[in-house]
Amino acid sequence: MSKLVVIGSSNTDMIVQVPRIPRPGETVLGGRFQTAPGGKGANQAVAAARAGADVSLLACVGDDSFGREALAGFAADGIDCEHVVVDPAAPSGVAQIFVAANGENSIGVASGANACLTPAHIERAASAIEAADTVLLQLEVPLETVIRAAEIGASADCRVILNPAPAQELPAELYLQLGILSPNETEAELLTGIAVKDENSAAAAAASLRDRGVDTVLITLGAEGVFVSTETLSKIVPAYVVEAIDTTAAGDVFNGNLAAALSRGLQLEDALAYAQAAAALSVQCLGAQPSAPTHRAIDDFLSA
Ligand code: ADP
Repeated sequence: MSKLVVIGSSNTDMIVQVPRIPRPGETVLGGRFQTAPGGKGANQAVAAARAGADVSLLACVGDDSFGREALAGFAADGIDCEHVVVDPAAPSGVAQIFVAANGENSIGVASGANACLTPAHIERAASAIEAADTVLLQLEVPLETVIRAAEIGASADCRVILNPAPAQELPAELYLQLGILSPNETEAELLTGIAVKDENSAAAAAASLRDRGVDTVLITLGAEGVFVSTETLSKIVPAYVVEAIDTTAAGDVFNGNLAAALSRGLQLEDALAYAQAAAALSVQCLGAQPSAPTHRAIDDFLSA
């Protein structure tokens, strides 16, 4: 039985490089096209598996070539796919991404099979969740599915981590099930109404989230690091200083590695150092899943 269960989305990213983002009605002749495996659930599962965690993924893909490619990728990373649902009636999730020369992007997601991951699927995998020590969730699958997974995890005394991305308002009951909530600055603002601009505003947003019943709030601040808020800690842990070339999925690498490190038994502050090292390595490479580092690379970075 896997110790870390990741529940979430799997997409194929269809990336078109363009000189500038097309306006409505406009066609812009672009440059290179590439496809890459993506989706927050899959990205975080792959990041955790590369870090050496024993990972099971609960996700839903279509019975099509994108779905089959995604499954082959998970297997190559040693992820247990017993509970990945293949829906014969839905296409696999796709994200159409324009990346402009100035680094701006614009993304449209067709959730497809991701929207078909239901609470019933989670209940069928309940024994896998109950046997795990950590459950890692995001918000790219239906909210009722996330809520059911958090309930099953919390009642089995698993550590339940929610990376609330993309952000949406959450019901009060969900906060009560969470051990860790890990928004970035914009997600923290959407959840609390407090614009996170500095240490004081991060502390206020984190306090508002902890007041709803979450044990530990980690607000990721990009190159600034992470604001950590627990019963005994309230401070910024700085990020590692590196030359970033692509910060896509920095949050996914951070969350996957945080879950992997906690599942391995590291204490929170050591797990944070590990996850920030992994994210610092990932922003020095292009792409989402391709940039997720191995346990060995992270250890080498930390001991350098
Ligand atoms: P998201 O991708 O969800 O917006 P962030 O941008 O906050 O998440 O990044 C998550 C973590 O990745 C940060 O807390 C930090 O540890 C690391 N990180 C992000 N950008 C950089 C950077 N430019 N240099 C070093 N570390 C970074």
